[in-house]
Amino acid sequence: MSKISAETRANLRSRSRLVHVGRNPQDQHGFVNTPIYRGSTVLADTIDDYEGGRNRYTYGTHGTPTTDALTDAWNDLAGAAGTVLTPSGLAAITVALLSVLGAGDHLLVSDSAYFPTRRFCDGTLKRFGVETTYYDPKVGAGIAELFKPNTRAVLVEAPGSQSFEMQDIPAISAECRPRDIAVVMDNTWATPLFFPPHERGVDIAIEAGTKYLSGHSDLLLGLTSANARHWPALNRCFTEFAVCAGPEDVFLGLRGLRTMELRLREAERQGLAMARWLQARPEVLRVLHPALPEDEGHAIWRRDFSGSSGLFSIVLKPVPRAAVAAMVDGLELFGIGASWGGYESLVIPFDCTRYRTATRWNPGGPTLRLSIGLEDPEDLKADLDRGFARLRATA
Ligand SMILES: *Cc1c(COP(=O)(O)O)cnc(C)c1O
Repeated sequence: MSKISAETRANLRSRSRLVHVGRNPQDQHGFVNTPIYRGSTVLADTIDDYEGGRNRYTYGTHGTPTTDALTDAWNDLAGAAGTVLTPSGLAAITVALLSVLGAGDHLLVSDSAYFPTRRFCDGTLKRFGVETTYYDPKVGAGIAELFKPNTRAVLVEAPGSQSFEMQDIPAISAECRPRDIAVVMDNTWATPLFFPPHERGVDIAIEAGTKYLSGHSDLLLGLTSANARHWPALNRCFTEFAVCAGPEDVFLGLRGLRTMELRLREAERQGLAMARWLQARPEVLRVLHPALPEDEGHAIWRRDFSGSSGLFSIVLKPVPRAAVAAMVDGLELFGIGASWGGYESLVIPFDCTRYRTATRWNPGGPTLRLSIGLEDPEDLKADLDRGFARLRATA
C-alpha cells in the first residue's frame, strides 16, 4: 500500500502528482522507482489460478508492474478511465481510431491534423471500408452539418500540426455527445498538463510520449487514454493487436514524467520569449503561436488551455527558397529534423498546400516550424540573428 492516502492523492496539485503517482516504494523493497519488468511468461501457482486468470499479471503483452506505473500515473494526470502504451505516437493514433471505427463507418478529420494520421485514414482505413472527410479546423459547432448517419468519430488536434490553428473542442464535443460520435484528440502539443482532455469533452486522447514526456529525443512512445464510455473498446482493440510498448521505453517514459511539468513550463517560457522576439523581426510576417494575443486562436487557447509548449511556427516575408536555405542551413544551435519536445532546438521548413483538401493553406510567405529547447535564449537569438543576416544577403 502507498503511504499517500486516497484523499491526499485526490487533492494533489499537478506538480506533486507527477512526483508521487505511479510508484509505490513499499512494493519495490523501498526503492524509489518501479523497476523494468522484462517478461513474456508469468507463472501461476496452480492450474486453478492459471485457468481462473486470478493472477494480477498474466502475460507480458497484457501489462506489467512497469506499464501499470505509467498508465496509473497517466490516468491520474489525464483524468482517464484507462490508458494503453504503444511503441510510438502514431501507433497510439491508429489504435485509437481502430477501436471506434468499422467497415461502413464515416470519420471526420481536421484538415490541420498530423500528416501521418491522414496517411493512415487515406490508406489502411479506406482499405477497410472507412470513409474519411476532412473539415476546416475552425468549424466549431458547425461540425454537425458534416455529420452523416454513419459518422462514428471526429478527430481533433489543437493546435494544428505545423499550422497551429485552434479548435473549439468543447463545442465540437457538445455536438458529438448526444449522437454518440466519439471525439478523438491528438493532445501531444499541450499534454494533459495544459489541456485536460477528458474534462473538455474528449473521449479518446492521444499523446506522443516521444515529445515532452521523453524530453530527450531518445524515446519513441505513445499513450492513448479513454473515458469510461470508450475504455473497454480501446482496451480490447489494444489487446487484440498486442501493440505494446517495450519495457525500457516505458521506464524512460516514467523517468520523463517526473520532470515533465518543469520542462514544459520552461519550454513555455522560452518558447514565448523567442516567439515575441521573432514577432518583432522585420523579416517575419507572422508568428503562429496561440498563446500570443495577436494569434487568431488566442481566445480559445485562453479559455481552454492553461499553458503552451515550446513548439510554434513563423511565416517569413516572401523571399526565394535559396534565402531560406542560406538562413536555416547555416544555423549552429538549431538542428534540422523532425520530431520535437527534446532539450535541443530544432527548425524545419513545412508546406501544408500539397495535402490540404478542406481548406487552402496560403500563409503569404515561406514557413518554418521551431521547437525551442533549453539553450539560453540569448544564444538562440544570436544564432537566428546571424541566420537573418544570411537571409537578407541572399534575398
Ligand atoms: C510526433 C507526433 C506524433 C507521432 O509520434 P511518434 O512517436 O513520432 O510516432 C503524433 N502527433 C503529433 C502531433 C506529433 O507531433
